[in-house]
Amino acid sequence: MIPLDEARAFVLAGCRPGPVVTVPLADALGLVTAAGVTAAEAVPPFANTAMDGFAVRAADTSSAPVALRVVGTVRAGMSGEGAPVGPGEATRIMTGAPLPPGADAVVMVELTEVSADGSQVVVREAVREGNHVRPVGDDVRPGDRVLEPGTVLTPAHLGVLATVGATEVQVVRRPRVGVISTGDELVDDGSPLAAGQIRDSNRLTLRSLVAESGFEAVDLGLVRDDEQAIEAALRHGVATCDALVTSGGVSMGDFDYVKVVLDRIGDMRWMQVAIRPAKPLAFGTVARRSDGSPVPVFGLPGNPVSSMVSYELFCRPGLRRMAGRADTDLDRPVVLAVADEPLRRKPDGKVHFARVACRYDLATGAYRVRSAGAQGSHQMAAMAAADALAELPDGPTVETGATVRARLLRP
Ligand code: AMP
Ligand code: MG
Repeated sequence: MIPLDEARAFVLAGCRPGPVVTVPLADALGLVTAAGVTAAEAVPPFANTAMDGFAVRAADTSSAPVALRVVGTVRAGMSGEGAPVGPGEATRIMTGAPLPPGADAVVMVELTEVSADGSQVVVREAVREGNHVRPVGDDVRPGDRVLEPGTVLTPAHLGVLATVGATEVQVVRRPRVGVISTGDELVDDGSPLAAGQIRDSNRLTLRSLVAESGFEAVDLGLVRDDEQAIEAALRHGVATCDALVTSGGVSMGDFDYVKVVLDRIGDMRWMQVAIRPAKPLAFGTVARRSDGSPVPVFGLPGNPVSSMVSYELFCRPGLRRMAGRADTDLDRPVVLAVADEPLRRKPDGKVHFARVACRYDLATGAYRVRSAGAQGSHQMAAMAAADALAELPDGPTVETGATVRARLLRP
């Protein structure tokens, strides 16, 4: 067996950031910027009002209450030029509208009273110059760096880019990840199970993990334990995807043809990782025929819990690396958590990843975990109930009150 860190380092070394592409902002959520972005425009592009009210000369309000003559209206989207404000005058103004020439402050509507015919406004309180005015470039000035390279684009980042007039952004291409299930026992069409059959759950789970991670999931189907069929599926996947995730067929069984085929067409390492579940792992590359580029292939174990744990420990970081993420940002959040009950295990030379229910306890300011249920690698119920994977170091049971590292599976 090899330590988890070694297996992980091997996987990461085989996962290189993808090519830089330019994409429309609407397609860029979650992608990683490949270049910094500098604003060409000021935000806001003109001085405007933060409130509905009246644009005035602040000096006119010093002896408030004071009556001013209403000389016009500016609404959002209009130029302010048509309604200049002279001494003793005010212009009705709506949030986002430009401050008209001559005005230097805004009085919010709540502090005014308008005469019945609308020609006069009484300002009840004095305001200072700049009151409720958002100056030009108050948010961003031309030449400001609004995004650094290596930024994982959030909705707010996309908003900033749109604000400064960008329509596209340079990013590392979103990895296209092909998912394949293998096994003669698998059924994927909802039909009644014949003797010896089970349902294919891994393909849907893995595709969903890929999609949830922000990558493009490609369904490469369910493939029988047949050497030719497996080779055809892998070749097709390598030709059309940036990485492949297979499940099943990587153990020591007689019909584990994924292993046979990958050994023949790829440059693979077969690992027994000192973890439980998900001990067997195949990782390596298969050269794409068209251009010879190495396509990473993750050969995950078939047991459903194992394949999910394997995804978290190896695929997620490897694929994030391909997506351009920093080495400090390859994993789900890991927190320290207090065991609320004994987390059972025996010494076996492996780190265990227990499926646990995890909650943040405000009263003690700590995360607290307890088992999410039966811990077999085929028992998906506890996986589905789990909020986190608790890392139980090699050794005996983790007793109540002890602290463990917990990998949070949901926000
Ligand atoms: P294998 O890695 O092919 O030896 O499979 C290990 C275990 O996982 C066996 O019990 C398989 O039936 C099961 N298994 C393999 N692939 C899947 C799948 N796609 N969905 C559900 N169970 C699977
Ligand atoms: Mg199998």
